[in-house]
Amino acid sequence: METRLHPRFENDPAARIAEDALRACVHCGFCNATCPTYQEQGDELDGPRGRIYQIKQVLEQGEGNASTRTHLDRCLTCLNCMTTCPSGVDYNHLVAFGREVVEQDCPRPFRERLLRGLLLRALPSRWPFRAALGLGRLARPLLPPGLRRRIPARRIPARRRPARGAPAPTHQRAPGFEHGRVLLLDGCVHDALDARINAALRQLLAARGIEVVSVAAAGCCGAVEHHLSAQARTRQRLRRNLDAWQAELTRGVDAVVSTASGCGVMLRDYGHLLADDPAYAERAAAFSAQVRDPVELFDDDAIRGLGIRAPDGHPPVAWHAPCTLQHGQGLAGRVEPLLQAAGFRLVVVNEPHLCCGSAGTYAITQPELSGRLRQRKLEHLEAATPGRIVTANIGCQTHLQSGTETPVEHWLTLLARHCP
Ligand code: SF4
Ligand code: SF4
Repeated sequence: METRLHPRFENDPAARIAEDALRACVHCGFCNATCPTYQEQGDELDGPRGRIYQIKQVLEQGEGNASTRTHLDRCLTCLNCMTTCPSGVDYNHLVAFGREVVEQDCPRPFRERLLRGLLLRALPSRWPFRAALGLGRLARPLLPPGLRRRIPARRIPARRRPARGAPAPTHQRAPGFEHGRVLLLDGCVHDALDARINAALRQLLAARGIEVVSVAAAGCCGAVEHHLSAQARTRQRLRRNLDAWQAELTRGVDAVVSTASGCGVMLRDYGHLLADDPAYAERAAAFSAQVRDPVELFDDDAIRGLGIRAPDGHPPVAWHAPCTLQHGQGLAGRVEPLLQAAGFRLVVVNEPHLCCGSAGTYAITQPELSGRLRQRKLEHLEAATPGRIVTANIGCQTHLQSGTETPVEHWLTLLARHCP
């Protein structure tokens, strides 16, 4: 698509990247067919092609407008359109740039500023989030059912918490792990919402002779600030995290992992987001190259070698692939064989490519659209009445759980529970 940058953006490296993405788009509209918001709204402006066109106008006219902001706000950043696009349009970085411009140019109404300000402060900080969650638990009986199911009745503790540090000496180190250790991002809300997930990864890796290290000083991966278009805060957090992890990275790790696929996407983007920072660019790129999702640390043989077996008569399981795993990290179809290697039966799920509506803070900032997408997703997941739903991202887990009585959990906790 031919684009002429407004002089305001001529010397902006991020605008140049956005311009490249615009040029790559041939306006074919294939992406509309797989875009959840286009499917729900039926409006060209709420599909990827329409959003790309609106960003093009902003780049050419030199200023954002409130209408474009509304349609960009409705985008889930699920990146389904990138998987579909035959021209390789980098929608992810294009929409991030478009959002940054409209955020600067169009001040939001007071209520939106208040909500976004609260999210920016509470979510990435462990203690304010825990305090808010504690209050939510107290008020739980008074809350509407959807919100009530989003808040666990009690803290879900880790089932088995292997000692931090090196695995027991009897465990033989799995082949392919040169250093025998991985760096785990503990995350901001993960342990407060479901402490079993990180503990499950520690347990399964310890059984393979792999040490899991983490650094308490490293906080949220930065996704919350990034999704809320607070780019200066995002970069500040990325630098702080890299500094906090530096000592462990220097000692050597085989991978950097997060049990939330949403955080994994963010960690893989550190190199891009700090590319213009001379002090951090190289370190950030090297860091991002080491990021792996937990599914990349296991294969069928590893699952069988650990002796994980589904008990006889275990009800079938519905797998929900988070967008951040299948579109953001390109790891579609990787978890299912591991579950099957352990003997779990999987039900067939329609529209597996579509987002469940969780999408970071989207469920809070766009509750109506998010609720419709959750309903649509749950109808497909529950069509064959599975005994449980499994996924790979704490955000999808809590969001789906808020709409159903069927238990929803992380695939790691399901496997760890049946690991002898
Ligand atoms: S599929 Fe790709 S090239 Fe076609 S309109 Fe969508 S983004 Fe543009
Ligand atoms: S990221 Fe998702 S919601 Fe946004 S335009 Fe692409 S497919 Fe649609």
